[in-house]
Amino acid sequence: MNNLFVISGPSGVGKSTLIDYIIKTIPQAKLSISCTTRTPRYYEHEGKEYYFVMEHQFREMIQNGEFIEYTYCFGNYYGTLKKEIDNILNNSGICILDVEFAGAASILNKYKNNNETKCTSILLMPPSMIELKNRLIERGSENEQAINCRLAAFNSEELAYYEPIYDYIITNNNLKTTKEVILNIFNKSLGSNYK
Ligand code: ADP
Ligand code: 5GP
Repeated sequence: MNNLFVISGPSGVGKSTLIDYIIKTIPQAKLSISCTTRTPRYYEHEGKEYYFVMEHQFREMIQNGEFIEYTYCFGNYYGTLKKEIDNILNNSGICILDVEFAGAASILNKYKNNNETKCTSILLMPPSMIELKNRLIERGSENEQAINCRLAAFNSEELAYYEPIYDYIITNNNLKTTKEVILNIFNKSLGSNYK
């Protein structure tokens, strides 16, 4: 049995931090690296967090049917590569996706009748909007305008609409505690699949 973990949450909530922790703790777990037209952040590297491409390349990839899903978000394209997921599932069997709500819904829908792949979806929530803003400011990767745009994108209507697709809704307050909670979720889902 393969395992697909879909993780979502507002920008700055701690998705990458927690995914990094899981990947270091469960070596078989691999991140499905998405393509994006966004500029790399100061700490990001090609092929680690994302494959960074130009917009015309992204459009070409859409035409070639390379994405299982893609979205336009915060002024950039982001897309999940079919071959990335397939390679991970065929090789290590534990794939993690960091995708926004619509992407999560689309992926979960595509895999819902796949008897070989078990999906687990996790929504990470911030303790408060003030704390979320502080985390984005602390990260120092976006200017004030971009931070405000990311905060505004996290709205209660969309949240209420998509909440039901998630198996787990976790508030990332204390990082150490959240790491334990997330690791427990992974271990529970993996069960005896993980050797
Ligand atoms: P995302 O991937 O969801 O956009 P990041 O993982 O980049 O978020 O985290 C945003 C910032 O918040 C980073 O600077 C990270 O170190 C910090 N962070 C993550 N989790 C916590 C936490 N529980 N408490 C305080 N800071 C956190
Ligand atoms: P960031 O710019 O902070 O790295 O990502 C912005 C948003 O895009 C986040 O909510 C992240 O989960 C989402 N995202 C990243 N890659 C993909 C993808 O391939 N597909 C979709 N639908 N969302 C993605």
